[in-house]
Amino acid sequence: MNLNEYKGVYIFIEQKSREIQNVSLELLGRGRGLADTLGEELVAVFLGDKIKDQCQNLISYGADRVIYVDSPLLDRYLTEPYAQALTAISEFEKPNIILVGATSTGRDLAPRVSARLATGLTADCTSLEISEEREMLMTRPAFGGNLMATIVCPDHRPQMSSVRPGVMQKLAVDTTRTGEIIEFGVNFDESKFKVRFIDEVKETKQLVKIEDANILVSGGRGVGTAQNFKNLEILADNIGATVSSSRAMIDAGIMGHDRQVGQTGKTVRPDIYFALGISGAIQHIAGMEESEYIIAINKDKGANIFNTADLGIVGDVNKILPLLNNELSKLSQQKV
Ligand code: FAD
Repeated sequence: MNLNEYKGVYIFIEQKSREIQNVSLELLGRGRGLADTLGEELVAVFLGDKIKDQCQNLISYGADRVIYVDSPLLDRYLTEPYAQALTAISEFEKPNIILVGATSTGRDLAPRVSARLATGLTADCTSLEISEEREMLMTRPAFGGNLMATIVCPDHRPQMSSVRPGVMQKLAVDTTRTGEIIEFGVNFDESKFKVRFIDEVKETKQLVKIEDANILVSGGRGVGTAQNFKNLEILADNIGATVSSSRAMIDAGIMGHDRQVGQTGKTVRPDIYFALGISGAIQHIAGMEESEYIIAINKDKGANIFNTADLGIVGDVNKILPLLNNELSKLSQQKV
């Protein structure tokens, strides 16, 4: 393999119902920095059906070039058609780097493509840098988050990495940017398509995604019961927040998987993060430490969460929350 033939930083752009996902814009933001350091091009790879009119958006968020594949076979994410399309583009273009969001789609797609391209993949990176040798330094938590490992892919190309939503920053949109938009034709091998889309059943509850919430009220084992979690929901309603949780409460069956903050859950970066009855295990901190302002309530004054919190309150969360909710509802009545 002649490594010098491989050029450019390529970002897989994820869309759902033709809506570009935030993580892809965040990766364009980081990819711009990597491409500039290398003096290479930043390319958005956009797969879907009837998506052409969105390509300019990707240029406004930092791409130099957009390669899109427009096909009814790519309307909804299915592993095989997407893996075939991304592999075909990579074989033709020979990228130096490919970045993919570590979403359920990206986690399914990236390993298959890396295997087909016979290269490595570093999953769930929290930092991406370029070394003096012009290699990508891919850093991710290892051994249950107890140390950060920096991984390189010295002998194979492309260098592939997945990054969780909320870890990188997107650039400010610049509608004056110009770039090239190219359609790519893929010869799909439909005999390999073993899975068909039949129906979509949407969850009836309309919950805000925790990674998009401005304020999160997060509860841990210290909250204890589903009944006590109602206090968190009332607080969230009072202040326009969304409820999330530590893994302990997911394991206890009190909260759904989509509400989990942390290393094996979602990375969040709200303006305000309430950590209520959460000890502050390293795997939890890894998912919320970038929050603007952290308020913790814990009855143990030695709890690790207080090392990360901006405001710490030592006390029983199940006694403090009803009092706080009471005061907040009085305030809102005064406003009326
Ligand atoms: P605990 O650690 O049990 O803490 C409960 C806290 O509540 C204590 O500090 C206690 O003092 C306090 N408390 C008790 N009663 C009250 C009260 N009445 N009022 C106020 N405070 C009270 N965890 C995650 O959260 N997210 C992850 O993504 C994640 N990924 C993991 C991945 C791996 C590979 C591993 C090994 C673990 C992972 N964990 C994750 C689990 C993590 O290590 C912790 O076990 C978990 O975060 C603990 O949750 P907790 O803080 O709610 O519970």
